[in-house]
Amino acid sequence: MRAKRSLGQNFLVDESVVDRIVSAAGVRAGDTVVEIGPGRGALTAGLRALARNYICIEKDDALAAQLAEQFAGDDSSFVVNDDALTMMPSGLPLPGPYRVVANLPYNVGGRITMHLLENWPGQVTSATLMFQREVADRLAAVPSTKAYGALSVLVQSMAEVWPLFGVPPGAFRPVPKVQSRVVRLQPRAEPLWAGLDYERFRTVIHGGFQSRRKTLLNSLANATTLTNDVDLIRAAVAEAGLDGGDRPDHISVAGWVALTRALG
Ligand code: SAM
Repeated sequence: MRAKRSLGQNFLVDESVVDRIVSAAGVRAGDTVVEIGPGRGALTAGLRALARNYICIEKDDALAAQLAEQFAGDDSSFVVNDDALTMMPSGLPLPGPYRVVANLPYNVGGRITMHLLENWPGQVTSATLMFQREVADRLAAVPSTKAYGALSVLVQSMAEVWPLFGVPPGAFRPVPKVQSRVVRLQPRAEPLWAGLDYERFRTVIHGGFQSRRKTLLNSLANATTLTNDVDLIRAAVAEAGLDGGDRPDHISVAGWVALTRALG
């Protein structure tokens, strides 16, 4: 079966990388593991051997059918032939919480991560995920770096992010053009924006980062999704303890939370 580019199919073939990811996932004997995009099953055998229950979500019909055949007679392993971008925990055959593991398709890695954090609250014990290196860098980025942006702030507001190790293109078939990196996400017991409206928090961050080369004040004032009352924005920036002349990518996650609270 040929790998499908549209589904980001770069299959892991390096056994030492497979072992590193399975061991980094920290699966415990009582866990229910959810693997996203198991593909040809590189990580699957190792995860099934460690977990109490194993569920995978695979969008490719043919690969899902192959795995279902492999799992026949095993009542602790399940294949869900669906899209991880929209899958909700209520659609899974067993209740959570889940230990999530994935070598994510490059094209939708960031979006699947956001879906898990936004729509699976309290259902993810930890998520050990492999991304294209640039996306992994954005997830873990600290303020005042090039990689730091809206994705960094949103993800870090809901999870602690631990970059683990890099994986070279030669570990996959077909060989991708990019480097990869494994990251561990530990969802926070409470998001840093607890008590605020998440949609508002997201709007403020996207508005603030819209013109990242401008000052924070100008960027916020230019954002069509926020108020165009500059005095109100100036007052909120001051109330949040921020400097309106600073650049958006210098503002910490706590700073964005304080700003959303002050903007009301
Ligand atoms: N886990 C396998 C490995 O490490 O060799 C395959 C990883 S491959 C990078 C990504 C896998 O995700 C493919 O099997 C692909 O079919 C699947 N996939 C792509 N988009 C998906 C989606 N939206 N939902 C679920 N699975 C998806």
